[in-house]
Amino acid sequence: MVDFSLSDPDRAVLDGVAAEAKAGEKYARHYDDHEEEVLPKSFPEASGFPPIQQRLRGRSGHDTPMLVLQVLMRIEREAHCGVPLRQPPTALGNAALDAAGTAVQKARWGHLMLAMSITEPGAGSDTKAIQTTARLDGDAWVLNGDKIFVTNGVRCDGTIVWATVDKSAGRGGIKSFLVMKGTPGFELVRKERKLGIRASDTAAYAFRDCRVPRDHLIGGDESVPRGEREGSASYKGVLKTFNMTRPFVAAGGIGKALGAFRFARDRLAEAGIVVDVDEGPTCRSAAAQALLDIEADIEAATLTVLRAAWLASQGKPNNLEASVAKAKGGELCRSGPQRAMEALGAMSLSHDYPIEQYLRDGRITDIYEGTGQIQRLVIAREILGYSSEELT
Ligand SMILES: Cc1cc2nc3c(=O)[nH]c(=O)nc-3n(C[C@H](O)[C@H](O)[C@H](O)COP(=O)(O)OP(=O)(O)OC[C@H]3O[C@@H](n4cnc5c(N)ncnc54)[C@H](O)[C@@H]3O)c2cc1C
Repeated sequence: MVDFSLSDPDRAVLDGVAAEAKAGEKYARHYDDHEEEVLPKSFPEASGFPPIQQRLRGRSGHDTPMLVLQVLMRIEREAHCGVPLRQPPTALGNAALDAAGTAVQKARWGHLMLAMSITEPGAGSDTKAIQTTARLDGDAWVLNGDKIFVTNGVRCDGTIVWATVDKSAGRGGIKSFLVMKGTPGFELVRKERKLGIRASDTAAYAFRDCRVPRDHLIGGDESVPRGEREGSASYKGVLKTFNMTRPFVAAGGIGKALGAFRFARDRLAEAGIVVDVDEGPTCRSAAAQALLDIEADIEAATLTVLRAAWLASQGKPNNLEASVAKAKGGELCRSGPQRAMEALGAMSLSHDYPIEQYLRDGRITDIYEGTGQIQRLVIAREILGYSSEELT
């Protein structure tokens, strides 16, 4: 039976996450206004909060499954308009290494912070259209191509790069490679400037005759499967990581909607508008009704991420549920803050309040790791039983 009620230790963990996220609010506007700056590894206030691993110790098998607790922590963290007091030591590339790397590669590179470079100027949603090439030359792979919008691309130690070793093989020819910063031919071209999540560094890269050792091929399998529906082991392995990360991305958008909701609720309460659920809709103000509607949508979206995370925690397939969660979170990240702003009026556009930043920071939820449209494609394929070639 699925039960999402929280034990006392889990509640305490979430309260701690909320307190830490609140402490990071004082830096939010600075890093939003100074996008050229990169966050330090930690802020002085971090010393007031034990590392999360420490706080998670002592949980028992009766507590909420870890993946479920992790999405709840993400929602709570993102509901505060702040910056992390400590930067996480890993990034999306680490998840790819975990999913597709050999035991030796994981042991060798697992401690590094690794970004993930898939997207190119001409290839986003359609990942099999990537043009970056990798050619074997003696004992090295030689990479050539351009990558854009690499999250953590400035701060990372290295990146996992998608490249094709054989364009004629379609997705079967796509492999991933570890490229460390400082490798000759690997250039950080620029730090991207963005509408939101400006405290998160996003980079564009160029690879020009960039040689990496032969054993930097993630998973180590150099064979190229043929046939339309085949993907190389590392291609499939990396795609699998998105089943795990999509609920977390969705949780980020839900958190932004929750933060905007709480802000609007508290401001409206100061103005005497308080939601009374016993009141009929005809007696309720439009602003109070808006709050109720946003809250209901947050609850619904939250249940979808909890379900996707719970399935993963049980080792069950969650491809459909992860996409439902991502599609729902991607919608809510826009509609939630937008409606909260409508209820507040002009103050919601002011630089003096965080609510406009919730809208800007949340917007990405519906774009990276598969746009809302792509999630709907995945959902349709899962329900109707079509392959990615049959329904594109
Ligand atoms: C802040 C930020 C961080 C990012 N971080 C990373 C990262 O770390 N690593 C990385 O590799 N990439 C990253 N990305 C890139 C991101 O994953 C892509 O932007 C995303 O996959 C969409 O690709 P695109 O922008 O090229 O849009 P396109 O694929 O060109 O799509 C444009 C529009 O067409 C729609 N569309 C496309 N195909 C279809 C279809 N078949 N059916 C219906 N509609 C369709 C899309 O939904 C979208 O609305 C990041 C992007 C941003 C903005």
